[in-house]
Amino acid sequence: MTASASSCWSPIVSTLVPYVPGEQPKIDRLTKLNTNENPYPPSPRALQAIRETAADGLQLYPDPDATALRRAVAARHGLALGEVFAGNGSDEVLAHAFFAFFQQGGAPLLFADITYSFYKVYCGLYGIPYEAVPLDARLRVDVEGFARPAEAPVAGVVVANPNAPTGEGLPLAAIERLLQLHPHRVVLVDEAYVDFGGETAIPLVGRYPNLLVVHTLSKSRSLAGLRVGFACGQRPLIDALERVKNSFNSYPLDRLAIAGATAAMEDEDHFETTRRAVMDTREGLALQLEDRGFEVLPSQANFLFVRHPAHDAAALADGLRQRGVLVRHFARPERIAQYLRISIGTPAQCEALLQALADLV
Ligand SMILES: *Cc1c(COP(=O)(O)O)cnc(C)c1O
Repeated sequence: MTASASSCWSPIVSTLVPYVPGEQPKIDRLTKLNTNENPYPPSPRALQAIRETAADGLQLYPDPDATALRRAVAARHGLALGEVFAGNGSDEVLAHAFFAFFQQGGAPLLFADITYSFYKVYCGLYGIPYEAVPLDARLRVDVEGFARPAEAPVAGVVVANPNAPTGEGLPLAAIERLLQLHPHRVVLVDEAYVDFGGETAIPLVGRYPNLLVVHTLSKSRSLAGLRVGFACGQRPLIDALERVKNSFNSYPLDRLAIAGATAAMEDEDHFETTRRAVMDTREGLALQLEDRGFEVLPSQANFLFVRHPAHDAAALADGLRQRGVLVRHFARPERIAQYLRISIGTPAQCEALLQALADLV
């Protein structure tokens, strides 16, 4: 008898529950409103920088510290170089942060019951227990639900702001409340969508040694395909992330990514124009969907979270798919099973969505 190859697995591998990303279809005639990518191309300056970098130097390793990129992020946000960490997508930055801060002897990490589902996946990977704090009746993050008695051990707090997949953001005062509730643990604020109308907590970094703010270039900088994210926090937090990163991969960002991301961070005009366009389209689409009978949650993100009182969400998602429009439906948890998450496309893509919906509702 030969053993099956899976019997060679480390035992933990069979316990992992991996994240399932939204569909990336192989055919490109579809209107893709399912993974919150930016509908506009990245900064032309980023593309130029990538081309120039590709033309010269790929035989050499990249800068292990991604200094040019971190300098651009630090300059834009009024931080010191040592207060910025860069990684291969914010997912990698999050993974390193979970490893660095939240393995606290079996104490639970706190995050909302309905939020970015990768948080649970990292907990599984690193053996971190967690407690889910239910969203309130209107699907908003319940800040006071994160309070714990002084003697209760807590590993830390993670909050997506604006939250995903609901889209609503917390004001800075609420983030400060979380920081004050758990002054001895890291409060990680995942601001993947903040540039579409939320309030960033980066200005609080100087005052709160326990604050770590994580950003991605995948959404508001139109660079999902380049895989770049960063974290901002006081030096001891950044030092911890670097220790983990340098125990895992010295060169998570390649030369093309460093060059493209640096140029993208420096192109304020392109950033402003495209994020404004997404926000304007979002407001128009919300009204159109309400006209068609949908309930639309308030959104400060590049997507809308909607439900129709008379139509099953899974059936709507199927019907849209048959008409060439992809949106995201989460069958679980139960509480959101009747919602659809619709990424904001170009005005033409949103029109295609509305046309397809005209047959269905
Ligand atoms: C998209 C997203 C990320 C991941 O972004 P990448 O930088 O592409 O890895 C992280 N957090 C939230 C809440 C997101 O929606």
